[in-house]
Amino acid sequence: MFESVRARLTLWYVGVLALVLIAFSIAVYALHAAILYDSLDTELGATLEETSSSFIQEMKTGAKEETASKDVLNEYSSPRQAAAIFSSEGKIIAEDPAQGDVHASLPDMSLVPPVEAELYTLPQGKPAEDRRVAIKRVEIPMTGKAYIIVITQAFDVVNRELRLFGFILSLVVLAALLLAGAGGWFLARRSLAPVVEMTRRAHRISAENLDERLPLTNPHDELGTLASTFNELLARLDDSFKQQRRFMADASHELRTPLSVMRTATDVTLGQDGRNETEYREALEIIDEQTRRLTRIVEDMFALARADSSSRALHFHDFRLDELIAETARAAEVLAGNKGVKVELGKLSATHYHGDEGLLRQMLMNLLDNAIKHTPAGGTIHIGLEKQPSRYIIIVADTGAGIPVEAQARIFDRFYRVDKARSRAGATEGGGGAGLGLAIARGIAEAHHGRLELQRSDSTGSVFAVWLPNRE
Ligand code: ADP
Repeated sequence: MFESVRARLTLWYVGVLALVLIAFSIAVYALHAAILYDSLDTELGATLEETSSSFIQEMKTGAKEETASKDVLNEYSSPRQAAAIFSSEGKIIAEDPAQGDVHASLPDMSLVPPVEAELYTLPQGKPAEDRRVAIKRVEIPMTGKAYIIVITQAFDVVNRELRLFGFILSLVVLAALLLAGAGGWFLARRSLAPVVEMTRRAHRISAENLDERLPLTNPHDELGTLASTFNELLARLDDSFKQQRRFMADASHELRTPLSVMRTATDVTLGQDGRNETEYREALEIIDEQTRRLTRIVEDMFALARADSSSRALHFHDFRLDELIAETARAAEVLAGNKGVKVELGKLSATHYHGDEGLLRQMLMNLLDNAIKHTPAGGTIHIGLEKQPSRYIIIVADTGAGIPVEAQARIFDRFYRVDKARSRAGATEGGGGAGLGLAIARGIAEAHHGRLELQRSDSTGSVFAVWLPNRE
């Protein structure tokens, strides 16, 4: 039972409240008891004072001690008080017993105070029957004779009142705790209801229905924040699952085309006997082209997987970024030269960098490859490196025909090509890609905590920029 947060919350709540209420009740009880005992003493003291002053008055008028004693005792002691007047030798002169025939007795003479009135508790064996005693020695001024006045009263009334008070307090505390427990249980249930609902809903979510979301009751409270964080996580998972599925579908589609071309070539060639060498050679050439294409796609997919799996598969070391750019530009120059395209290298200053040199070379090659492919003869490709305090910016600009506006947002998607038919046709000539080049380049930039963006693309050409953080 205490495994549940609801039970624990309620228990804590009731426990803390019980502590507070019990401490409060004890304090109130003690205060009330002190007041009651005090008022008993005041009552006894008052009777004693009144009795003694009246007794002195009466004696002054010359009354007999028995008569005076009886008179004052009858007049002042209440039915619950037992009173008596003794002579200084301890002989009883008069008394007025309390209800239940309780008599006031004289204590040991040595205990009688000389002048002042005194109050003490007289034990009776059982604490409930203990009595409070007020005692005073009085002296009649004219005769010089001394008398002892004793007034006593039982604690029973005070005790009864205290018992009742204690009983009522315990009842109130118990009722308050029961009420608080029920209220706490109800409140905990109410406030935890969204968690129960979230758990139920989360149970139903699997890879098949990642588009489901957890319910959001109040987006601003703690549970709402939890639910929306979880929903954001689901959205990211959903995205990446969809991306994975799309990738699988696109990849198998890309791989199927060269495979079916090869199957057709072999079927046709082997389907007929007596083929000559030229026919076999043609078939093998087709197979060779398609194998190259397959190899390239598989290599691209492998590069993508490496960039995706981030730092684990990367081989970071120190190298000169400017030298890497210059080398890649030289390699691109050969390809561009064949097409009548010029490669222009900006001013490069010595730049030390820590990263995966091989992957960064591939990223640059992919950008340059695209630039060369899409720039007509007579065009120029510019490569530059800019140094900023916290980052490096590599620019690859061409003077090609540009990327159609509607395609610009998608060129970094995996397997996306602006003109599928033309690229595929190009592929057979060994020039076309599977639409992975930019996705790989971006993946590599991101694996280095940088980014790759298309800065501008219009009829005058396209400009790609790579931002790499400088963590020197
Ligand atoms: P691929 O490997 O097939 O070239 P990419 O991912 O590299 O695929 O490029 C995606 C698409 O973006 C290509 O189909 C191409 O049409 C377009 N593209 C990329 N770079 C350029 C560029 N510099 N100029 C014009 N179009 C480009």
